[in-house]
Amino acid sequence: MWALRATISHVMIEPMYIGIISDIHANLAALESVLRAMGPVERLWCLGDVVGYGPDPNECIDYLRAQPNLDVCLIGNPDAAVIGTASIADFSAEAQQAVHWTREQLSACSREFLGERRALVAHDAEFTLAHASPRDPLWEYITSTDIASENFLYFQTPVCFVGHTHVPAIFSLGHPSIVRLQAVRHATQLRLRDALAARRYILNPGSVGQPRDSDPRAAYAVLDAETGNVQFQRVAYDIAATQRRMQAARLPANLIYRLDYGW
Ligand code: ZN
Repeated sequence: MWALRATISHVMIEPMYIGIISDIHANLAALESVLRAMGPVERLWCLGDVVGYGPDPNECIDYLRAQPNLDVCLIGNPDAAVIGTASIADFSAEAQQAVHWTREQLSACSREFLGERRALVAHDAEFTLAHASPRDPLWEYITSTDIASENFLYFQTPVCFVGHTHVPAIFSLGHPSIVRLQAVRHATQLRLRDALAARRYILNPGSVGQPRDSDPRAAYAVLDAETGNVQFQRVAYDIAATQRRMQAARLPANLIYRLDYGW
């Protein structure tokens, strides 16, 4: 995209913003707040786990499908578990309970939507998008530089976006083969294009609906395709509203309380 735009920039000057979200987990209040805070973007990439844990599975799928800029939506492991294409054997008891509840709620349309998703796509020449990791798109957690280092062998593009851990992260591979993990806070900005000559990246925007980095605010990222800047952002949302709906649905207490702490 950038190479193309550099070539034709004299005729094509409109900005291109891409919103990147992941792990919504049926939390509509968080999803609405993120899309509001993000502002207009030309494309929206969702890295999977639209459902599971939260109280609004159909509402989140409908809301996403109604976004005219939705360009990519992947499937995550709880999504797949809900429609019966992945096992729940390794899930915690609470997660299993949430999967069973979500199965009962899911409309035929929502089931069909999830069934059409993939867990990994190569997008343009520059981006690979995977729910969990390029090596194991549904299950592997990229939580360390060692795991990230191995995963750089499993995609060809300069940049891979992943979700799944619910923790925003920047892993970067340079010369000879150093992988570094950069802490990502609210308003962290990565100047991707300047660095791409020497480095490749695995980037995680964090989780919209169930953050696990001790910051309970919803997480997302915006890529400015003109400048190559990636902005990692957080936005507060009405956590209590989601918790009330979870209580009404009798979802497990631990899943309700953890939203207060972002863990
Ligand atoms: Zn998830």
